[in-house]
Amino acid sequence: MELIQAQDPELGAAIRAEYDRQQRNIELIASENFTSQAVMAAQGSVLTNKYAEGYPGHRYYGGCQCVDVVEELARTRACALFGADHVNVQPHSGAQANYAVYAAFCEPGDTVLGMDLSNGGHLTHGSPVNFSGRNYKIVSYGVGADGRINYDEVRELARKHHPKMIIAGASAYPRIIDFKTFGDIAKEVGAYLFVDMAHIAGLVAAGLHPSPIPYADVVTTTTHKTLRGPRGGMIFCKAEYAKKIDSAIFPGSQGGPLEHVIAAKAVMLGEAMKPEFKAYEEQIVKNASTLANALLAEGFDLVSGGTDNHMMLVDLRSMHLTGKELERRLDEVNITANKNAVPNDPEKPFVTSGVRIGTPAVTTRGFKEPEMLLIAKFIGAAAKDFDGQADAIRAQVAELTGRFPLYE
Ligand code: PLP
Repeated sequence: MELIQAQDPELGAAIRAEYDRQQRNIELIASENFTSQAVMAAQGSVLTNKYAEGYPGHRYYGGCQCVDVVEELARTRACALFGADHVNVQPHSGAQANYAVYAAFCEPGDTVLGMDLSNGGHLTHGSPVNFSGRNYKIVSYGVGADGRINYDEVRELARKHHPKMIIAGASAYPRIIDFKTFGDIAKEVGAYLFVDMAHIAGLVAAGLHPSPIPYADVVTTTTHKTLRGPRGGMIFCKAEYAKKIDSAIFPGSQGGPLEHVIAAKAVMLGEAMKPEFKAYEEQIVKNASTLANALLAEGFDLVSGGTDNHMMLVDLRSMHLTGKELERRLDEVNITANKNAVPNDPEKPFVTSGVRIGTPAVTTRGFKEPEMLLIAKFIGAAAKDFDGQADAIRAQVAELTGRFPLYE
């Protein structure tokens, strides 16, 4: 950081300000985390200088002996961690990984069954503003009145529409996903099963959420959420689809791989194989459960009534508050969360009636159950008496984050 500040003060100041913000704020965005310094060091290494189109042992550039070792390490660790036949560690992001899966398994115009964005799915699962919704015929499933996936509805839609591919996985779903039932449905209708485990991959690696690997033809993940690695993606598949998937990434949709990011993925995967990682993921789930119960005690409604994983979705309708307004208030007291649609949300996507809250980042910071009780109190006060208590909340947030410094 000092180097950048010395060479490029304007940019250095912006990075320093972001570092200070991360120190100062309580980070509750469910899809964010704080990587280790080793992950950042790998990403900031000389590997950024190297072109390596192709795959280890089959490159279109000379001088790839060292990056081959790096990429092979990432691949071996990823397959061992998740018990997969094959992995592609080159996707630049989760969306790129998902793009390649569509390209590998579907033709434009094919029918795909995925979870609706407003019910917890991701943009790439069929939103009309995304490549997925524009290039494929999307049929969507959502959640029932209990806030949970209704597997009978999924089966019925699959039988009626005969999708080429079924997508399971979500960005805002607080409950265990039954991948075995998804697998049975896909088999029954002759569809590929594609699982996007981006949010829960860390929990899967730690054995705290059932793994999709035995049931899915193809599984994607991001590497920066509960896995706590650099921003990026990975694709796992059965051996028979390895060539299809690899060609869909390169040369199908990407050029040179980001070997410095792949090295950072390898660092993350090495960390995820250690016993401390399992303990970390267990604490994420304990923290989420404690925070959910404390928010219920504060009078908030939660979609599905609680959580089984790392996140919860607060339904603010009974508080007569929008997601946008609570996000703004929390921002003002240095708590970061994101507005999020709740099922059947009457508000527009930029306003919403909900807030999504996750515990991966605060758990990395060292917060445990007592800190979750404090956070619930802060959020309750921000919702119920913001004008009267904003200064007091901000001071307590500063005291709390000061006790748990980052990167020291
Ligand atoms: N899939 C799911 C389920 C996600 O939640 C996300 C991101 O939030 C993505 C894919 C896309 O990841 P990225 O932002 O790296 O493209």
